[in-house]
Amino acid sequence: MKKTTDQAKTDASIDRRGLMLVISSPSGAGKSTIAHTLMEADRSFALSISVTTRKRRGSEVDGVHYRFIDRDEFVRLRDSEALLEWAEVHGNFYGTPRGPAEEAMQGGQDMLFDIDYQGALQLQEKAGEDVVSIFILPPSMAELRSRLRRRAEDSEETIAIRLANSRVEIERWRDYDYVIVNDDLNQAYEAVRSIIIAERLKRKRRPGLQAFTEELLKESTE
Ligand code: 5GP
Repeated sequence: MKKTTDQAKTDASIDRRGLMLVISSPSGAGKSTIAHTLMEADRSFALSISVTTRKRRGSEVDGVHYRFIDRDEFVRLRDSEALLEWAEVHGNFYGTPRGPAEEAMQGGQDMLFDIDYQGALQLQEKAGEDVVSIFILPPSMAELRSRLRRRAEDSEETIAIRLANSRVEIERWRDYDYVIVNDDLNQAYEAVRSIIIAERLKRKRRPGLQAFTEELLKESTE
């Protein structure tokens, strides 16, 4: 007997563990655009909102892009174990609040982390199996430079610091599960989508398969 559609399971309805999707790249390689597009397209992702001591850019909203805090508050959060990971990047402090990330994971929700390689390593150490990491590379240094300039929200000095630091960041590509060269934004985004689709189907993340297959086998085949 064939199951009716309303009884039938789909991949999305079978219990699974949440993914911790980490996307890193040097500034200007396109990571934030990819992360933003993903958040719009896939409502099952929650975005981890970091705290930072960096000054807010004109286009940024406190509580949406970051929670902008001063150094004293950062140190207080860090020392009270309220951050899952933290790092100094381009002379400012950044950190991932522990509470929202842990709640999302316990609820089986996927979470997106736009963090640097230092943070990616800390999450890999702490959450191992749940972390899927993607590194985005620019197609060339010339393109990276022109993308940073086009953003036009940072001073020349900030751009120079970010370009210098990008060399150190690029060297960290080996620490990631997947590496994508962002030559074409649509293609890079499609690659990220494919990774997510495959990672969600991994057996190790799907405790619900046990019950589902038991039910399947109980069903009559007549
Ligand atoms: P931006 O100042 O351009 O927003 O970010 C600078 C760098 O800091 C980016 O590589 C970004 O991914 C990283 N970053 C943002 N939030 C965090 C965080 O909470 N932890 C870590 N380790 N890096 C972060």
